[in-house]
Amino acid sequence: MRSRLTTLVVVSIFGAVGIVTASSVWREFAQYGTGKTTELQASAIVIASAVADELRAGDREAALNTLRPISHVPSIDYVRIDRADGSLFVEVGASVAVVGEQQALLPEAAISHDALSMLTTQTASVRVPIINDGVEIGQVWVEADASSLADRIGALLWDAFAAAIFAAGIGLLIALRMQREVTRPIIALSRVMSAVRETGDFAKRAKRENDDEIGELVSAFNEMLNQIQERDARLLAHQQNLKNIVQRRTRELERAKEFAEAASLAKSDFLATMSHEIRTPMNGMLAMAELLSSADLPPRQKRYTDVIVKSGQSLLAIINDILDFSKIEAGRLELERIPVSPVAIINDVVGLFWERASSKGIDLAAYVGPSVPEMIEGDPVRLNQILSNLVNNALKFTDEGTVIVSAKRIKSTDGSCRVEFSVTDTGVGIAKNKQAAVFEAFSQADQSTTRKFGGTGLGLAICRRLVESMNGEMGLNSVEGKGSRFYFSLPTTVVEAPKPAPETMGRKRAVIAVDGPATARMLARYLEEAGVAAQVVETADAVISQTAYTDIIFASPQNLEAFHEAMQGSPRQWAPARICVSELGDAAPDRLLEAGVAEDLLIKPLSRHDVMDQIGRVFEGRLRGKEAVRVSASRGPDLPSFPGVRVLAADDSAVNREVVKEALARLQIEATLVADGREALAAAAQQRFDLILMDCSMPEMDGFEATRAIRVREAKMGEPQTPIVALTAHVAGGDLEWREAGMNGYLTKPFTLLSLAHAIAANLPGKAAVSPPDGAKKPEADADEAFDETVLRELEAMQGAGGDLVGRALSLFEDHAPEGLRRLDRAVAAGEPDEIKKAAHALKSMSLNVGALRISSVCREIEMLAAGGAGSGFAELMDALRSGLRTAFAAAPAVKARFARDAA
Ligand code: ADP
Repeated sequence: MRSRLTTLVVVSIFGAVGIVTASSVWREFAQYGTGKTTELQASAIVIASAVADELRAGDREAALNTLRPISHVPSIDYVRIDRADGSLFVEVGASVAVVGEQQALLPEAAISHDALSMLTTQTASVRVPIINDGVEIGQVWVEADASSLADRIGALLWDAFAAAIFAAGIGLLIALRMQREVTRPIIALSRVMSAVRETGDFAKRAKRENDDEIGELVSAFNEMLNQIQERDARLLAHQQNLKNIVQRRTRELERAKEFAEAASLAKSDFLATMSHEIRTPMNGMLAMAELLSSADLPPRQKRYTDVIVKSGQSLLAIINDILDFSKIEAGRLELERIPVSPVAIINDVVGLFWERASSKGIDLAAYVGPSVPEMIEGDPVRLNQILSNLVNNALKFTDEGTVIVSAKRIKSTDGSCRVEFSVTDTGVGIAKNKQAAVFEAFSQADQSTTRKFGGTGLGLAICRRLVESMNGEMGLNSVEGKGSRFYFSLPTTVVEAPKPAPETMGRKRAVIAVDGPATARMLARYLEEAGVAAQVVETADAVISQTAYTDIIFASPQNLEAFHEAMQGSPRQWAPARICVSELGDAAPDRLLEAGVAEDLLIKPLSRHDVMDQIGRVFEGRLRGKEAVRVSASRGPDLPSFPGVRVLAADDSAVNREVVKEALARLQIEATLVADGREALAAAAQQRFDLILMDCSMPEMDGFEATRAIRVREAKMGEPQTPIVALTAHVAGGDLEWREAGMNGYLTKPFTLLSLAHAIAANLPGKAAVSPPDGAKKPEADADEAFDETVLRELEAMQGAGGDLVGRALSLFEDHAPEGLRRLDRAVAAGEPDEIKKAAHALKSMSLNVGALRISSVCREIEMLAAGGAGSGFAELMDALRSGLRTAFAAAPAVKARFARDAA
């Protein structure tokens, strides 16, 4: 700014001086040019008149004499006289030679009188014609020195320069003064501005020094700063206010959240309590009603009790549904992911509903496709629940025909395993426009449904939500009046690949003449899979006509008998294998097998494993004959008994005490009954029991408190701990409480005889007396000490004919236990009680399943220790665990071999 002002002053001064100078120079030029020319012209005219006569006479001598004095005039340098034709007449002057040449060089036109050429050539020249008697007889050329023009211009310029310097000096002085007055306050102002910008301190102010415009500017700037400061203060206040509002809202939201959580907790508590309060008396009522209805009653009273039992059962089902649904809604559903066998799940469900289906005359059959894995990962309880629900509905809405439960592996886009389960019936079907609604909660396709079939409309809603929480999809196809197919598919992981169908040599043929069209069709599919061409026929006659082309006959007892009779007379050239397909409890197969009419037996509902094993036996020539009856009979779960075992049961409800007493009596257990925790404590102090069944919620002293007191007393007296099993109706809530109280297990009410027996057996290893059918063999004792014989026998009793469940279970145990141990090892190394507890629990339940009781009890100790919050001190227990596992692994092959022999 400052330098620009100076430059401006200097430039304008020099500009002004320049213009003045230029005009003076121009004037000088003009004056000089005109003056000089006029002077030369006058001289030339004088010379012309002087030499005119000599020129006319051609007397050059005389002309030179005339000219000579002129040549001494200082202002004339050169004179020349030309003739009319342009040729030189005479010349005088300082530079004759040069001018002679110049004339040649400079044409007429170039001879100029203007000032600029005078300046450049430093000479001035004129030409004047010589006239005599009106005739031009020649020309005079006069030239003079013009160097004084340059001197004069130089002097002029010098003066101008000096004037300019002087003026610039004065101008600068003025500029500096102005600068002081104008720029200084502006600079000061700009400094304040920069400081404000850099520090953000709006409290700074610029000083007003003058009353002029700059002073005004400073005031305006300061005023602006005032306003900014004021606005900032307002913003700050607003911000503070907002912060307060946000804090207040956050506090309110937190309070609301706490309140909502408390409400949700209260709801869960309410549900748990409600389930307890309703299910406990229901349990007693139902058990008593069942006992009553099996007693000898007059027909009318029997009908009444049956109604009580039925209503009780459906009420319990509704309560369970509502609880399940609210649990799913509250997002409290926890799904297990453990190995499950699709075949076993379907068998269980079909087995469960078999009675009901037969009593309605419906053929209930199962089919599991060849590519369905033997074991998948899933939640067995929930899978069972969904399938049971679908089968229950199918049977409810089907009056005649068939219900087929099946599983197949379906293609999934990402190559993972996906299994689809479906239940197909030939029932009433569902109208197209009602189909979507049946999955809604509390919805039924037909309002008359409730009246006719009962139900809450919750079943399918629960199923779909369960399927969805397993990441699966559920749907249905249905044609009204023709039937429905409900299906759901689940993504899963293959734990064990499907078992291949047995090897059959060549193309064999089978004829199927069994009761039930669905059973026949499914049997045919299994046979086809094994490479056997199967033909389903209706009558014994059809079987007879096919005999010559048949390798195997699968027939109902009646058909088999008819076939046998018809074949009596004919010469026996060809005898197909004859398999009787019958139901449990039918006496006919026994007779047919005894008489050799049938050679082996399949019991409905047919499972994949049963059929495949049967095909294997046919082709290996291992038909079982009458032995088949014994194996089949042992399929029902045998209740173990516990002779001599003393159990103390504490329950505040008289009905429940009665139920427990009855149930224990069935297991040949001597029961002592008490009504609350205090009495239980007293009884336990007075007498030693093998086991205590403890209801959790009781007046006076509840089950947890009583357990803690018993444990304290035992510790004081140095007595071993009596196993205590909690009896609880709680479905919601964790299982931590009983564990923390020092109980050893729990049993949910309503319990079945079998689950009670299992709970007792698990806590009293070796106390159960199982009487295997046929008197059977004594265990090959101590060699297999690592696995409890009772548990193994129970496993064996659960398997289908020839299923070798023990072998499979032990293989699974061998496969998974090492990983379980590694997990536990890692958890112990990391010292994380929670993970230790979980890992120990997992290994415990794994070993309990195969009766590896030593391992499971060590695991239980580890689990208890970890549950108490311990993160170390496991070394000794881990050693015991490792040695237990070593023993178990060493013993497993022999056990598997022994049971495989029994199964064969
Ligand atoms: P609920 O059976 O307790 O009424 P569900 O949710 O299980 O409730 O079923 C809802 C409705 O869907 C039933 O009331 C019935 O109208 C229809 N439905 C379900 N399964 C079938 C089936 N297999 N055949 C015909 N209708 C069915």
